[in-house]
Amino acid sequence: MKVAIAGGGIGGLATALMLHGAGIDVTVYEAVPEPRPLGVGINLLPHAVQELRRLGILERLLPLGVATEELCYANRHGQFVWREPRGLAGGYSVPQLSIHRGKLQMALLEIARQRLGEAVVRTGRKVTGFVSDGGGPVRFHLEDSVTGRSYDEKADVLVGADGIHSAIRAQLHPGDGTPRWSGQLMWRGTTLAPPFLTGKSMALIGTRGRKVVAYPLSAPDARGNALINWIAVLDNTAHGLPGAEDWNRPGRLEDFLPEFASWSFPWLDVVELMRGAEGTYVYPMIDRDPLPTWTSGRTTLLGDAAHAMYPVGSNGASQAILDARALTRALLEEADPSAALVRYEQERLSATAAVVAANRNQGAARILDLAEERAPDGFGDVGNVFASGEREAIAADYQRVAGFTAAGVAAGGAGGRPGL
Ligand SMILES: Cc1cc2nc3c(=O)[nH]c(=O)nc-3n(C[C@H](O)[C@H](O)[C@H](O)COP(=O)(O)OP(=O)(O)OC[C@H]3O[C@@H](n4cnc5c(N)ncnc54)[C@H](O)[C@@H]3O)c2cc1C
Repeated sequence: MKVAIAGGGIGGLATALMLHGAGIDVTVYEAVPEPRPLGVGINLLPHAVQELRRLGILERLLPLGVATEELCYANRHGQFVWREPRGLAGGYSVPQLSIHRGKLQMALLEIARQRLGEAVVRTGRKVTGFVSDGGGPVRFHLEDSVTGRSYDEKADVLVGADGIHSAIRAQLHPGDGTPRWSGQLMWRGTTLAPPFLTGKSMALIGTRGRKVVAYPLSAPDARGNALINWIAVLDNTAHGLPGAEDWNRPGRLEDFLPEFASWSFPWLDVVELMRGAEGTYVYPMIDRDPLPTWTSGRTTLLGDAAHAMYPVGSNGASQAILDARALTRALLEEADPSAALVRYEQERLSATAAVVAANRNQGAARILDLAEERAPDGFGDVGNVFASGEREAIAADYQRVAGFTAAGVAAGGAGGRPGL
């Protein structure tokens, strides 16, 4: 069987590695002529990290990031609302990994080329559409991103892993339109700064409409500074969108720093952190409504192309990696490729739609909004702000929806099925 993947991002490359590991012939077509390490930090949750371990590549990826030990939520006064251990510290058999997105993508690309051969990832090749010939192979259209030359290729299966602006999704669902904007903007940056809390903590501070997320992407250097990834989120309906969404659009400190001017806490100086960044990027909080179907004949969707979600709860890249495993398993176990795609979609569509919905509701970070509603001026004892067991239940609910309870991961990952 020959599988073609549109898009060499995290989802497309993870899928290529898994299919190859299962003995399936695969080619990746990536629109960018020379992929570069773009983006800032992302987090991979243990169920996705477990899949990377199964691929035998975790040892290569771990030194590129930080094994997150703790997730903590604090109000805008810097008081802790909830703290939970994560990864190995949280009883998982695998770590949670904070890693630079670009470094992860480049590492996956290098590993794919080493394992599958240099020619397997064809860069500068944009997939522009497809034609399904009844039950047979799928023909798809390509455009050379440099020369503009168009040509066609065929494969037994076409996977659209071409991100939030997927051409394959647009053809499958012409009425889908543009992504949905929450009305918020995110400014993202990285800063060399002293580590905070455990040195491997991820902090979420504030509320839905004015929030900062921070976590380290490296161990401290000789001077004691770690590379800290941070994101400032603000309601910004008055200003509107700063043009078409672009992960690499530069942002301006003066557009958001004043909103956080008093956020210098004994355990983290948010203002210094933001001031210390070499540059910032601004991106809108966008997602897409879940689709009724991802599949038509021998063509399907994966990752952001299938289920773009708000970057809340560390699930964007993690869910793409889970898709890759489910698709590989279905293609191995079903003789008929169309039946395999239907089975893959049945396993993943409603599961990921639930994560899209949970993220619209802030995931477990809604703990922060409850704290603000109930104790806007802060608290003496957080135990008086929440009912007994309430915060534990909110955190556990999101873990269940997103498929990463410690018990589920121990039982074999999302879907609870060990191996392939
Ligand atoms: C440049 C960039 C920077 C990002 N930075 C961040 C970040 O800082 N924080 C964060 O949380 N998320 C970021 N993301 C999104 C994050 O990578 C995804 O949410 C997640 O990893 C799921 O990955 P994916 O493979 O489905 O999509 P993506 O990672 O978006 O990958 C899609 C790939 O498909 C390629 N592509 C697009 N259209 C076509 C086409 N027609 N034919 C062939 N190839 C095509 C793209 O060039 C890209 O390489 C970024 C994405 C990109 C593309």
